Amino acid sequence: MASESSEQNLQYVDAHCHLHDHRIAKDVSGIVQRAEAAGVTRMVTCATMEENFAATNSLADQYNAVFPCYGIHPWFLDSLSPGWQQVLGDQVAATASGVGETGLDFVDKNADRDRQIEVFAGHLSLARDLERPINIHIRKAWDAFIRLLKKTGPLKTPGLVHSFSGSADLAVLLERYNLYISFSGSVTRPGAKKVVHALKAVSRNRYLLETDTPDIYPSIPAPDPHGLNEPKNLPAIAQIAASRAGVPVPDFVRQAYANALKIFAPVFGQA
Ligand SMILES: [Zn+2]
Repeated sequence: MASESSEQNLQYVDAHCHLHDHRIAKDVSGIVQRAEAAGVTRMVTCATMEENFAATNSLADQYNAVFPCYGIHPWFLDSLSPGWQQVLGDQVAATASGVGETGLDFVDKNADRDRQIEVFAGHLSLARDLERPINIHIRKAWDAFIRLLKKTGPLKTPGLVHSFSGSADLAVLLERYNLYISFSGSVTRPGAKKVVHALKAVSRNRYLLETDTPDIYPSIPAPDPHGLNEPKNLPAIAQIAASRAGVPVPDFVRQAYANALKIFAPVFGQA
């Protein structure tokens, strides 16, 4: 059938995953193969601390479909070396890569918020200086994030907020700062009202799709028993997201793909 065959030709970019993660490290070649067979032809894998920069770099070297981002996740600030800014700057400058995962996470009330803001601001200025996309994590820290954005102004090179968990109004506000909004398997949860509102509110040319592999296992038919997420699940996430957004699947997926090519142009190169 025509609709079926056009869906088979759809391509996807996983805008945020972690292929270096020790839980899946042994199986990356299988994971990449299964992803490509499902139409997920590009995966943006994010390092989370200096310790996994090398692993992320070698995955990107090894697999044509894998593209790197380098950053220090707000959960791992204790891992920072004294020269982290230099290490990060050198790593990003040396390769076609994005910045991240970085951001603010205030879920843990004991987290050092000022330190998180300082480290995140360092990532933002690196992305600005090198004109690279930035892959941002924000949890329960929207006010601090907006304050920071007001200070820096709209990003010169667009970035993304991964696995968006904010309101529809917030999604629209973030677009004005040159941010894309990335939706993960959280949009597939039966009770995901807020995320679905945000998905409906976001501009057509501003949304992305991601798995956050190996986390955020989506609510999809026939889930894998091991419970570790993989980029191959992105088409199933997209299908549910499209139906919740009230958009035909092929249109929804093609637009997400076009958006991803745009934001990741400095990483993907001329493709
Ligand atoms: Zn992540």
